[in-house]
Amino acid sequence: MVASRDIQPGEVVFQDRAAAVGPSESNPLCLDCNGKIVEEKFLRCSVCLFPLCDEECIKGFEHLKICAYLKGKGSQVKSFEEPNPIYDVILPLKLLLLKKNQPEWYSILINFMDHIEYRKSFAEYWDQVKTNVIDVIMGMPGIVEEGLTNESELCQIIGILETNTHEIYNRHGYCYRGIYPISSFPSHNCIVNARPKMIKEAPYISIFQANVQISKGGDIFTTYIWPHLPTRKRRQTLREGWHFSCTCPRCSDPSELGALTSAILCKSCQGGYLLHENPLEDDKPEQWKCHQCGENGNSDEILAMVDELTNEVENIKRDDVEGNLKQLKKCRKTLHCNHSVLTELRVRVIPIICRGPGKGTQHFPDETIEHKKKLCQENLAVLKVITPGLTRQRGGWLFELQDSIFYLGKRQYEEGKLDDIKFNEILKECKQLLIECCKCLNNEPHNTVEKFYEMSAKGALKVLSEQILMLSCVTGMRG
Ligand SMILES: [Zn+2]
Ligand SMILES: [Zn+2]
Ligand SMILES: [Zn+2]
Ligand SMILES: [Zn+2]
Repeated sequence: MVASRDIQPGEVVFQDRAAAVGPSESNPLCLDCNGKIVEEKFLRCSVCLFPLCDEECIKGFEHLKICAYLKGKGSQVKSFEEPNPIYDVILPLKLLLLKKNQPEWYSILINFMDHIEYRKSFAEYWDQVKTNVIDVIMGMPGIVEEGLTNESELCQIIGILETNTHEIYNRHGYCYRGIYPISSFPSHNCIVNARPKMIKEAPYISIFQANVQISKGGDIFTTYIWPHLPTRKRRQTLREGWHFSCTCPRCSDPSELGALTSAILCKSCQGGYLLHENPLEDDKPEQWKCHQCGENGNSDEILAMVDELTNEVENIKRDDVEGNLKQLKKCRKTLHCNHSVLTELRVRVIPIICRGPGKGTQHFPDETIEHKKKLCQENLAVLKVITPGLTRQRGGWLFELQDSIFYLGKRQYEEGKLDDIKFNEILKECKQLLIECCKCLNNEPHNTVEKFYEMSAKGALKVLSEQILMLSCVTGMRG
């Protein structure tokens, strides 16, 4: 997708609307609103027997579209926490029914890439798809009678969904995804210049915004994966999920254009780090070399070490501040500061450090606040290379950074260690960070962390502006 005009940072490139939305990763959800089923208050539909939120959702249009086809199938749903393969049929069924209800959308979507031959080459996976989805849909009342589809078309539909859906929501084993007619067009790049903002409620609008300036004729790039991943992991995920070998400028460069998210500290020299010298040579052994002393690294050892650290991270609870900080300290001894494992740990810690039940930043010692400030700066530095500009992630970390700077300054000021002028300078620095934060976070969808940051930043900006004005009057009088 190419820009037909100059596009400014934050500008909307296009808007899109989901053609179908449904469960992801077999997770149980309400068949009408895609909400999480609450154990204490749900109702089962008397026809499909699926659990839904309430009477309103049972009468909802989204549910009624599929209810008759799913007759009785919901009796298989006993737990609302555990993944259940019956939910794998929902989205393919919804896409198929577009053929009947919205044929103009169906005719666009059915031409999307499906990579079906590749998928079928994984016999075990494909057997499951056949049993859990294809056979189930073919056996639904009306499907054969109406002559709606055949097995080969269902295979195609499944391939299309696997390749083209966008995750709309994902939290704590509960997620849903949608397929969008236009949003699949921007291609992938490991340095991103635009991003979709997915509205999490019906009609599931996707607003595609530019992060940076994109000149007329320039490519509009998005990312299909978590862009912080190291090169090997990014390329592997893209090969498996989208069937191409990424050769973008970041993947082609051992230093990843300075992002260094794969770099390993060199044991031989002080301060050097090892880089993956042949990132695009998938069929050859990886060559690792220190950029400073030229020492070669053992690729097997490096991979095993990174895998071990990654596994350890996966076994730490996301909200365990101490556990994640301890692992961060350990990883710093072997991995470059920008390495994706460290970034992941900082992503976890930044929103929860200096917070607790009934506690805010002001209740924590200087040392902890300083630590938080450093973590924010480190993640912002990585982000600046791989997703520059107005991104949601940057907005969140800018807010957290100014929060740390503000409370450290305020404490010093109150203890008489800073004079009015110096403190006013700190307040002005915080104000600049908040202004930038508000540019990153604008009209964020409700009930999201980003909305929380957006509202907090707007509130803080107001208070800060008043404080700066007051302090300027004081210092002005004294001057
Ligand atoms: Zn519902
Ligand atoms: Zn029903
Ligand atoms: Zn790439
Ligand atoms: Zn070295």
